[in-house]
Amino acid sequence: MNASAAERRQQVAAGLAEVQQRIAGACRDVGRDPGEVTLVVVTKFFPASDVRLLADLGVTDVGENRHQEAEAKAADCADLGLRWHYIGGLQSNKAAAVARYADVVESVDRAKLVGRLDQGAHDRGRPVDCLVQVSLDPPDTEGRAGADPADVPALAAAVEAAGMLTLRGVMAVAPLGADPADAFSRLAAVHRDLMADHPSATWVSAGMSGDLEHGIRAGATHVRVGSAILGPRPRIK
Ligand SMILES: *Cc1c(COP(=O)(O)O)cnc(C)c1O
Repeated sequence: MNASAAERRQQVAAGLAEVQQRIAGACRDVGRDPGEVTLVVVTKFFPASDVRLLADLGVTDVGENRHQEAEAKAADCADLGLRWHYIGGLQSNKAAAVARYADVVESVDRAKLVGRLDQGAHDRGRPVDCLVQVSLDPPDTEGRAGADPADVPALAAAVEAAGMLTLRGVMAVAPLGADPADAFSRLAAVHRDLMADHPSATWVSAGMSGDLEHGIRAGATHVRVGSAILGPRPRIK
Protein backbone atom coordinates (compact mmCIF):
# COMPACT_ATOMS: atom_id res chain seq x y z
CA MET A 1 0.00 0.00 0.00
CA ASN A 2 1.44 3.42 -0.87
CA ALA A 3 1.50 6.26 1.63
CA SER A 4 -1.61 8.01 0.40
CA ALA A 5 -3.65 4.79 0.31
CA ALA A 6 -2.61 4.08 3.89
CA GLU A 7 -3.53 7.60 4.88
CA ARG A 8 -6.92 7.33 3.22
CA ARG A 9 -7.59 4.07 4.96
CA GLN A 10 -6.78 5.64 8.31
CA GLN A 11 -9.02 8.62 7.57
CA VAL A 12 -11.98 6.48 6.54
CA ALA A 13 -11.52 4.06 9.44
CA ALA A 14 -11.52 6.99 11.89
CA GLY A 15 -14.66 8.51 10.32
CA LEU A 16 -16.39 5.15 10.40
CA ALA A 17 -15.49 4.53 14.05
CA GLU A 18 -16.75 7.98 15.01
CA VAL A 19 -20.08 7.47 13.25
CA GLN A 20 -20.48 4.01 14.78
CA GLN A 21 -19.97 5.62 18.18
CA ARG A 22 -22.56 8.28 17.41
CA ILE A 23 -25.04 5.55 16.43
CA ALA A 24 -24.29 3.59 19.61
CA GLY A 25 -24.64 6.75 21.72
CA ALA A 26 -27.94 7.73 20.14
CA CYS A 27 -29.27 4.21 20.64
CA ARG A 28 -28.16 4.21 24.27
CA ASP A 29 -29.96 7.53 24.86
CA VAL A 30 -33.29 6.06 23.81
CA GLY A 31 -32.80 2.49 24.99
CA ARG A 32 -32.48 0.97 21.52
CA ASP A 33 -30.19 -1.87 20.45
CA PRO A 34 -27.57 -0.56 17.98
CA GLY A 35 -27.99 -3.88 16.17
CA GLU A 36 -31.38 -2.57 14.99
CA VAL A 37 -29.74 0.25 13.03
CA THR A 38 -28.07 -0.43 9.68
CA LEU A 39 -25.43 2.04 8.58
CA VAL A 40 -25.62 2.78 4.86
CA VAL A 41 -22.44 4.56 3.85
CA VAL A 42 -23.19 7.05 1.07
CA THR A 43 -20.33 6.77 -1.43
CA LYS A 44 -21.59 9.14 -4.14
CA PHE A 45 -18.77 11.15 -5.74
CA PHE A 46 -16.16 8.92 -4.10
CA PRO A 47 -14.17 6.35 -6.09
CA ALA A 48 -14.62 2.60 -6.15
CA SER A 49 -11.36 2.33 -4.19
CA ASP A 50 -13.16 3.91 -1.22
CA VAL A 51 -15.98 1.38 -1.58
CA ARG A 52 -13.39 -1.42 -1.41
CA LEU A 53 -11.86 0.15 1.67
CA LEU A 54 -15.25 0.37 3.36
CA ALA A 55 -16.04 -3.27 2.58
CA ASP A 56 -12.68 -4.23 4.03
CA LEU A 57 -13.54 -2.27 7.19
CA GLY A 58 -16.74 -4.30 7.59
CA VAL A 59 -19.32 -2.05 5.91
CA THR A 60 -22.13 -4.10 4.34
CA ASP A 61 -24.40 -1.43 2.84
CA VAL A 62 -23.53 1.46 0.52
CA GLY A 63 -25.72 4.19 -1.01
CA GLU A 64 -25.52 6.00 -4.34
CA ASN A 65 -27.72 8.71 -5.83
CA ARG A 66 -26.73 9.02 -9.49
CA HIS A 67 -27.58 6.21 -11.89
CA GLN A 68 -24.53 6.16 -14.18
CA GLU A 69 -22.04 6.48 -11.37
CA ALA A 70 -23.84 3.87 -9.30
CA GLU A 71 -24.09 1.38 -12.16
CA ALA A 72 -20.36 1.64 -12.91
CA LYS A 73 -19.31 1.35 -9.26
CA ALA A 74 -21.64 -1.58 -8.56
CA ALA A 75 -20.13 -3.43 -11.55
CA ASP A 76 -16.60 -2.54 -10.47
CA CYS A 77 -17.26 -3.76 -6.91
CA ALA A 78 -19.46 -6.76 -7.75
CA ASP A 79 -17.02 -9.12 -6.03
CA LEU A 80 -17.51 -7.48 -2.61
CA GLY A 81 -20.99 -8.81 -1.84
CA LEU A 82 -22.24 -5.39 -0.72
CA ARG A 83 -25.88 -4.36 -0.55
CA TRP A 84 -26.37 -1.40 -2.93
CA HIS A 85 -28.98 1.20 -1.98
CA TYR A 86 -30.21 3.61 -4.61
CA ILE A 87 -31.16 6.79 -2.75
CA GLY A 88 -31.39 9.36 -5.54
CA GLY A 89 -34.09 10.83 -7.71
CA LEU A 90 -35.35 8.29 -10.25
CA GLN A 91 -36.11 9.10 -13.85
CA SER A 92 -38.77 6.78 -15.24
CA ASN A 93 -36.58 5.83 -18.20
CA LYS A 94 -33.73 4.79 -15.89
CA ALA A 95 -35.76 2.92 -13.27
CA ALA A 96 -35.50 -0.53 -14.87
CA ALA A 97 -31.73 -0.14 -15.22
CA VAL A 98 -31.41 0.88 -11.55
CA ALA A 99 -33.33 -2.21 -10.45
CA ARG A 100 -30.85 -4.41 -12.32
CA TYR A 101 -28.00 -3.57 -9.91
CA ALA A 102 -29.61 -2.02 -6.82
CA ASP A 103 -30.57 -4.35 -3.98
CA VAL A 104 -32.63 -1.66 -2.30
CA VAL A 105 -34.36 1.29 -3.99
CA GLU A 106 -35.09 3.86 -1.28
CA SER A 107 -36.54 6.57 -3.50
CA VAL A 108 -39.80 5.15 -4.86
CA ASP A 109 -41.94 8.28 -4.94
CA ARG A 110 -44.51 7.80 -7.70
CA ALA A 111 -46.59 4.98 -9.16
CA LYS A 112 -45.13 5.36 -12.63
CA LEU A 113 -41.82 3.91 -11.40
CA VAL A 114 -43.26 0.69 -10.03
CA GLY A 115 -43.76 -1.24 -13.27
CA ARG A 116 -40.31 -0.24 -14.52
CA LEU A 117 -38.56 -1.22 -11.30
CA ASP A 118 -40.43 -4.52 -11.34
CA GLN A 119 -39.26 -5.12 -14.92
CA GLY A 120 -35.62 -4.47 -13.97
CA ALA A 121 -35.88 -6.84 -11.02
CA HIS A 122 -37.35 -9.49 -13.35
CA ASP A 123 -34.47 -8.97 -15.80
CA ARG A 124 -31.99 -9.58 -12.99
CA GLY A 125 -34.03 -12.51 -11.71
CA ARG A 126 -34.21 -11.50 -8.06
CA PRO A 127 -36.52 -9.37 -5.90
CA VAL A 128 -35.63 -5.76 -5.09
CA ASP A 129 -36.36 -4.19 -1.69
CA CYS A 130 -38.26 -0.90 -1.96
CA LEU A 131 -38.83 2.04 0.35
CA VAL A 132 -41.44 4.67 -0.36
CA GLN A 133 -39.76 8.06 -0.16
CA VAL A 134 -41.97 10.46 1.78
CA SER A 135 -41.77 14.21 1.32
CA LEU A 136 -41.61 16.11 4.60
CA ASP A 137 -41.63 19.50 2.84
CA PRO A 138 -44.64 21.79 2.69
CA PRO A 139 -46.82 20.78 -0.30
CA ASP A 140 -45.84 23.69 -2.58
CA THR A 141 -42.05 23.38 -2.15
CA GLU A 142 -40.05 23.65 -5.36
CA GLY A 143 -38.01 20.57 -6.30
CA ARG A 144 -39.75 18.51 -3.68
CA ALA A 145 -38.56 14.88 -3.63
CA GLY A 146 -40.78 12.18 -2.24
CA ALA A 147 -44.44 11.30 -2.25
CA ASP A 148 -47.01 13.39 -0.47
CA PRO A 149 -47.91 11.56 2.77
CA ALA A 150 -51.51 11.28 1.51
CA ASP A 151 -50.30 9.31 -1.53
CA VAL A 152 -48.21 6.79 0.44
CA PRO A 153 -50.94 4.14 0.93
CA ALA A 154 -51.68 3.82 -2.82
CA LEU A 155 -48.01 3.81 -3.72
CA ALA A 156 -47.23 1.18 -1.08
CA ALA A 157 -50.07 -0.98 -2.38
CA ALA A 158 -48.68 -0.72 -5.93
CA VAL A 159 -45.21 -1.80 -4.75
CA GLU A 160 -46.69 -4.67 -2.76
CA ALA A 161 -48.66 -5.84 -5.79
CA ALA A 162 -45.57 -5.95 -8.04
CA GLY A 163 -44.26 -9.51 -8.25
CA MET A 164 -40.54 -8.80 -7.93
CA LEU A 165 -40.62 -5.83 -5.53
CA THR A 166 -40.66 -6.19 -1.76
CA LEU A 167 -42.18 -3.33 0.23
CA ARG A 168 -39.82 -2.72 3.18
CA GLY A 169 -40.88 0.67 4.57
CA VAL A 170 -40.24 4.38 4.18
CA MET A 171 -37.40 6.82 3.62
CA ALA A 172 -37.17 10.59 4.02
CA VAL A 173 -34.77 13.50 4.08
CA ALA A 174 -35.40 16.22 6.67
CA PRO A 175 -36.15 19.51 4.86
CA LEU A 176 -33.34 22.07 4.86
CA GLY A 177 -33.78 24.58 7.63
CA ALA A 178 -36.58 22.65 9.32
CA ASP A 179 -36.36 21.02 12.75
CA PRO A 180 -35.29 17.41 12.02
CA ALA A 181 -36.95 16.13 15.20
CA ASP A 182 -40.31 17.46 14.03
CA ALA A 183 -39.77 16.21 10.45
CA PHE A 184 -38.80 12.70 11.54
CA SER A 185 -41.69 12.47 13.98
CA ARG A 186 -44.03 13.17 11.06
CA LEU A 187 -42.25 10.39 9.15
CA ALA A 188 -42.75 8.05 12.12
CA ALA A 189 -46.49 8.78 12.01
CA VAL A 190 -46.63 8.00 8.27
CA HIS A 191 -44.74 4.78 9.01
CA ARG A 192 -47.15 3.76 11.78
CA ASP A 193 -50.06 4.13 9.37
CA LEU A 194 -48.21 2.12 6.72
CA MET A 195 -47.46 -0.67 9.20
CA ALA A 196 -51.17 -0.99 10.02
CA ASP A 197 -51.74 -2.19 6.44
CA HIS A 198 -48.31 -3.73 5.80
CA PRO A 199 -46.92 -5.18 9.05
CA SER A 200 -43.74 -6.41 7.36
CA ALA A 201 -42.79 -2.91 6.12
CA THR A 202 -40.59 -2.34 9.17
CA TRP A 203 -37.77 -0.21 7.72
CA VAL A 204 -37.41 3.52 8.34
CA SER A 205 -34.48 5.19 6.56
CA ALA A 206 -33.90 8.55 8.26
CA GLY A 207 -30.84 10.49 9.31
CA MET A 208 -27.64 11.62 7.60
CA SER A 209 -24.30 13.05 8.78
CA GLY A 210 -25.92 16.09 10.39
CA ASP A 211 -29.04 14.56 11.91
CA LEU A 212 -28.56 10.82 12.41
CA GLU A 213 -29.26 11.11 16.16
CA HIS A 214 -32.67 12.61 15.37
CA GLY A 215 -33.35 9.77 12.95
CA ILE A 216 -32.49 7.14 15.55
CA ARG A 217 -34.59 8.88 18.19
CA ALA A 218 -37.56 8.74 15.79
CA GLY A 219 -37.10 5.02 15.17
CA ALA A 220 -34.79 4.83 12.13
CA THR A 221 -33.68 1.33 11.19
CA HIS A 222 -31.32 2.73 8.53
CA VAL A 223 -29.16 5.85 8.56
CA ARG A 224 -27.49 7.13 5.38
CA VAL A 225 -24.17 8.74 6.16
CA GLY A 226 -21.64 10.12 3.69
CA SER A 227 -19.48 13.10 4.57
CA ALA A 228 -19.06 12.29 8.28
CA ILE A 229 -17.23 9.13 7.19
CA LEU A 230 -15.66 9.93 3.82
CA GLY A 231 -15.04 13.66 4.27
CA PRO A 232 -16.33 16.52 2.14
CA ARG A 233 -17.50 15.32 -1.26
CA PRO A 234 -15.19 16.07 -4.19
CA ARG A 235 -16.29 19.04 -6.32
CA ILE A 236 -19.52 18.43 -8.29
CA LYS A 237 -18.56 16.92 -11.64
C1 LIG B 1 -25.97 12.49 -0.03
C2 LIG B 1 -27.10 11.89 0.68
C3 LIG B 1 -26.96 11.41 2.01
C4 LIG B 1 -25.68 11.55 2.81
O1 LIG B 1 -25.46 12.89 3.16
P1 LIG B 1 -24.30 13.30 4.19
O2 LIG B 1 -24.75 14.60 4.69
O3 LIG B 1 -23.05 13.35 3.39
O4 LIG B 1 -24.23 12.26 5.24
C5 LIG B 1 -28.07 10.82 2.60
N1 LIG B 1 -29.25 10.68 1.95
C6 LIG B 1 -29.42 11.13 0.69
C7 LIG B 1 -30.75 10.94 0.05
C8 LIG B 1 -28.36 11.73 0.02
O5 LIG B 1 -28.55 12.17 -1.23
